[in-house]
Amino acid sequence: MFSRREWLSQALGLLSVAAAPSLAFAQDNAHIVVVGGGVGGATAAKYLKLFNPSLKVTIVEKNPFYIRPYGSSEVLNQHVKMEDLYVSYDALKSKYGIHVVTDTVTGIDPVARTLSTAGKQRISYDKLIVSPGIQLMYEAYAGYSEAVARTAVPSGWIPGEQTALLAKQLQGMRQGGTFVLAAPPNPYRCPPGPYERASLMTEWFTKHNPTAKVIIVDPKDSFVTDETMMLGWNRLYKFNLPEDYVKKMSSEVEIKQHSGTSMLSWVRGKDGGRTIKIDAKQMRIEIEGGTIQADVINVIPPMKAGAVAATLGLTDSSGFCPVNRRDFSSTLLPNVYVIGDASIADAMPKSGFSANTQAKVVARAIVETLAGRPAPEPLWENTCYALAGKDYGLFVADVFKIVDGKIARINGKARYLPLNATPAQIKLGARYQQAWLRTFTSDCFA
Ligand SMILES: Cc1cc2nc3c(=O)[nH]c(=O)nc-3n(C[C@H](O)[C@H](O)[C@H](O)COP(=O)(O)OP(=O)(O)OC[C@H]3O[C@@H](n4cnc5c(N)ncnc54)[C@H](O)[C@@H]3O)c2cc1C
Repeated sequence: MFSRREWLSQALGLLSVAAAPSLAFAQDNAHIVVVGGGVGGATAAKYLKLFNPSLKVTIVEKNPFYIRPYGSSEVLNQHVKMEDLYVSYDALKSKYGIHVVTDTVTGIDPVARTLSTAGKQRISYDKLIVSPGIQLMYEAYAGYSEAVARTAVPSGWIPGEQTALLAKQLQGMRQGGTFVLAAPPNPYRCPPGPYERASLMTEWFTKHNPTAKVIIVDPKDSFVTDETMMLGWNRLYKFNLPEDYVKKMSSEVEIKQHSGTSMLSWVRGKDGGRTIKIDAKQMRIEIEGGTIQADVINVIPPMKAGAVAATLGLTDSSGFCPVNRRDFSSTLLPNVYVIGDASIADAMPKSGFSANTQAKVVARAIVETLAGRPAPEPLWENTCYALAGKDYGLFVADVFKIVDGKIARINGKARYLPLNATPAQIKLGARYQQAWLRTFTSDCFA
């Protein structure tokens, strides 16, 4: 029989069982502080305690509970309520003995190894993990700002009041109204997410507002899961695929193009889809290809690392945080690690799954480093599930390793739900997505 710690070590393939007890002894006095109690931060804190319960681990998080971004588009189509997105820190505190401090980190002294906070606390650390997520660059578009997003043209890509406002606007949209979703440029949080959001609303409108229009305007010409997603749109919403996609896909699956127009359309970058300006008063969005009069606009602006990452001196000119790939330690500050959406992780997408798997690698690396051993060779994985409709699930699943100093995807083309998947497999995909939401939250926070 394995103990829980031995089992974890075996399961992750990172540590010999015999090494575990001395490891715990070697790092007993270390204090690991985690900035941000989201997916990356919570997972790192929990797995540090699982690897060595005698470590002192503190999370500093600005909100008293986490509002999960993943699954937040399901508030818009009334599948869940806002409160269903709230995740408590109680289990991290009571089951693992993690200290959770509700405060906003505002500064760092990397020599004294202390953090300062808005609440005037000074918190000392031996090792610091920073997982602050993203900030939205509202000002990237003329006429757009955080104030406009709060009151008239919400984003909601960081869930909260804007999600609730967008839900209210969409559910109250006049019959036959137009909903425009402005997709972001790369790199951004949750690559299939904007398209899943548009899908779920198209499905919802089909029942509640059958003459509505959904227009995705996009600076890009493609997106991850695009072929499986658009096949779903074609089957569910009579969406006609662009001819280049039909050509690419028809060797694998028969595509039926429809007569008439679909409720859903996608304006790609090459067709003038890039957003230029938001006119919140007139509810108009100007894109390269012209101006669209809308009833509801959802802008997902460009993004960069959460503001505190720059404040702490962890970002480069890309707006994200450069890290040593092997252990996600910052290349800019010693004893600091950056994970999740804020980090530069090459081929890994900015997803919750990535943040979670990065957190486990970092927790292991810190435990090894404190014991005076090198961090083991990491292996990461990511699966993003997405819905084209409530019962139409799809996914992308990848494995990553360091290749020539960068994180590279090592699996081949077989990363998506096959285009010729059966209806039962597609329905099962939707069940997997819902099951993942539950088990994933539990892995990070419980
Ligand atoms: C609509 C949508 C759908 C998604 N669907 C999926 C999906 O299906 N699968 C998937 O894998 N991913 C999905 N994601 C992406 C996923 O939610 C993020 O990639 C993930 O949350 C990133 O984790 P993180 O730890 O980097 O940041 P977050 O989870 O955002 O956590 C950051 C935390 O840091 C805190 N913080 C920030 N600044 C400070 C400060 N100064 N002091 C203290 N605390 C601070 C914040 O309050 C927050 O709690 C989705 C995202 C969206 C928006």
